[in-house]
Amino acid sequence: MDILVINCGSSSLKYQLINANTEEVLASGICDRIGISGGSFSYKAKNKDKITQEVELKDHEVAIGIVLNTLIDKDIGILSSLSEIKAIGHRIVHGGEHFTKSALINEEVIRHIEECADLAPLHNPAHLLGIKACKHLMPQTPMVAVFDTAFHQTMPPRAFIYGLPYEYYEKYKIRRYGFHGTSHSYVSKRTAEFLGIRLENSKIITCHLGNGSSICAIENGKSVDTSMGLTPLEGLVMGTRSGDLDPAIIDYIAQKENKSTQEVLNILNKKSGVLGISGLSSDFRDLLAADEKGDLKARFAREVFAYRVAKYIGSYTAALSGVDAIVFCAGVGENAKFIRGKIVSHLQFLGITLDEEANLQTVGKEGIISTKDSKVKVCVIPTNEELMIARDTLEIVSKL
Ligand code: ADP
Repeated sequence: MDILVINCGSSSLKYQLINANTEEVLASGICDRIGISGGSFSYKAKNKDKITQEVELKDHEVAIGIVLNTLIDKDIGILSSLSEIKAIGHRIVHGGEHFTKSALINEEVIRHIEECADLAPLHNPAHLLGIKACKHLMPQTPMVAVFDTAFHQTMPPRAFIYGLPYEYYEKYKIRRYGFHGTSHSYVSKRTAEFLGIRLENSKIITCHLGNGSSICAIENGKSVDTSMGLTPLEGLVMGTRSGDLDPAIIDYIAQKENKSTQEVLNILNKKSGVLGISGLSSDFRDLLAADEKGDLKARFAREVFAYRVAKYIGSYTAALSGVDAIVFCAGVGENAKFIRGKIVSHLQFLGITLDEEANLQTVGKEGIISTKDSKVKVCVIPTNEELMIARDTLEIVSKL
C-alpha cells in the first residue's frame, strides 16, 4: 500500500511516498519558500536522478499539486495514477492532551488540531493548510494525523506538571507536553529489536539531537519523562534555542535591552543555543571545523551542549531507577561522533565505557558504541519519523 507522508511547515513541505508494506521509500523531496518569492521544488524517485526546480509556490495547495503531478508524470513519475496513493499521513506537532495516539482525520480531529494551534502557533496552522490542500486535491483519500506529542501522553502528572499555581493547568492546560515523540517512539522500538531485548521490560533513554533536540526516558516502551515542555524551547541547549533557563532572565533582558517579551522569546528561540554561545553557527559541522582551527567559543558551545545532554541523562537514570540503553539519533546524534564521545565521558560513574573505535566508525548507521563490558549499552539508531508515520497510517487505514 503506497502512502504519502507529508510534513508541512509554514513555508516548506517535506514529503515521502512510502510503500508501507515493504517500507521502501519510492520518492521524496521538499517544496521550499511556499508563499514567499524564490520557491523551489525537489524530487528524488527510486532509481532516478534527483531533480530541483525553481518554481513559484503561491500556497500549500500549489505545492502539493506539483508533488502529485510529478508523482504521475510520464517521464519522471513513479505512479501511473494518483489512485495508487491509498492514504496520506500528516505529521502534526501539537495534539495537546486530546490525542494519545494517531487519528483518522475527520472534521472533529481538524477542530481539535485547530484548538491546539494556540500551543504551537508556528506549526499547527501550517499542518492544517496541508490537510486542507490534500482534502481538496484528493477528497477520497483517507488521511491520518500523527502527533509529535502523542507518545509523551503516558508521562505521569509528577513529570508533566510545572511548579506553578495548579489553576493554570486547569484553566489553560499549561503543562509539559514534549515533542519529537514519533522519533523517540521509533528509536526506542528499533533499539529493543536491535539489541534483542524486550521493549516491555526495558529502561531506555533516547537522545534526539538535531537542530532541535530532546531526550526521553522510556520505561517498558512508554515515555515517562522528556526534556521539552509546553513548547519545544525547554530542555537541552539546541542549535538556536536556549533550553532551560531561569525565567527571570526574560524580563531582565527585556529591561536591559529595551525589548518586548516577544522579542526576547524570539532571541531565546532563534539566536541562542550553540549559535548564541559560539556567535558562529547552529550547525555542529561548522562548530567542529572552527574548534579544530582553535576557535575557543566554538569549543565552549560544544562542551556546554554535551554537558547539558549528560546532565539530562543522569536525571533520567534517576527517573527510570536505572538504564539499560542510551541511544543517540538525529543529525547530531547519528553523525557527531566527538560530541557523543564528550557526552559519554561524563557518564563513567554509571559504569559506561565508550568503545572509541566503534564510536568513530558508527556514523549515520546503526551500531553499539559502548564496550562489551560497559554496564549500560550505548548505541546509535538513525531515526525515521516518516516511516513511523507511514506505519501508523497503514495501521489505521487498514481497519477502514
Ligand atoms: P532537524 O532538527 O532540522 O530535523 P536534523 O536531525 O537533520 O535536524 O539535524 C541537523 C543538524 O545535525 C545540523 O544542524 C548539524 O548540526 C548536525 N549534523 C548533520 N550532519 C552532521 C555531521 N556529519 N557531523 C556533525 N553534525 C552534523
